[in-house]
Amino acid sequence: MELTVLGGRGAWPTPDQGCSGYLLVCDGFRLLLDPGYATLPPLLARIRPEDVDAVLVTHGHPDHCADLNPLLRARALGGSAPPPLPLYSPPGALDAVLALDRPGMLDGFRTPHGITAGARLRIGPFDVETRLLPHFVPNAGVRLTGPCGAVFAYTGDTGPSPEVPELARNADLFLSEATHPETVPPEDAAHLLSARLAGRYAQQAGAARLLLTHLWPGTPHRDAVRAARDSFAGPVSVAVPGTVLRPGAGESAEVGGPCAEPGGPGEPDRC
Ligand SMILES: [Zn+2]
Repeated sequence: MELTVLGGRGAWPTPDQGCSGYLLVCDGFRLLLDPGYATLPPLLARIRPEDVDAVLVTHGHPDHCADLNPLLRARALGGSAPPPLPLYSPPGALDAVLALDRPGMLDGFRTPHGITAGARLRIGPFDVETRLLPHFVPNAGVRLTGPCGAVFAYTGDTGPSPEVPELARNADLFLSEATHPETVPPEDAAHLLSARLAGRYAQQAGAARLLLTHLWPGTPHRDAVRAARDSFAGPVSVAVPGTVLRPGAGESAEVGGPCAEPGGPGEPDRC
């Protein structure tokens, strides 16, 4: 199993990276997780639009699904006539992004599948377990296993919940939202996580590695990593575009990307 980070910014894209977006590959099957704002360009730097085999969206906020529209446009208008793209999401989560173009234009290029959080499903080689996690809109946390011999868990966006460490139980790689390092402002506290709590959940779950994502723009990465390390004993880093991880290979080895080498002295926020 191989995970490539396409973007990991929370809320809106910044000059250095887009919002949530991850490419997960097993047995040659390419699953795109959460095509958020500005994640299509780094995806297309790696593979062709028609090479995506399925898309899984945790919830319907645009920082997690806006770039589905240009992906479908590239498949529909690019001349290669790929088969309809299977789209998995909570029911109705993609209605807004799928309504951006004139009615019917992209219909033949997608096959929507509503997933009720709590359901188990199969996407290509992946067995997918979903859990309803607390957010402003229905959000499906996902746990993927399969023939590639690794367990990968991803929160999507969530507030505190005992379901989170259950989702990440013994995961080789736990990708957790960590919108703020220490505390979440009261008005959002039920719907978003801190890096500190993500670290606590990772430790509780027995996860092998923690990858923090969805940091609010401007958040120093080192603050998030430091907060998570207070309770999590394993490796912690922040998701940045280009990071490639192979969960289950050794210690969830980082095999490439900007964090594979330690950041230079002038780049404390590189990873
Ligand atoms: Zn978000």
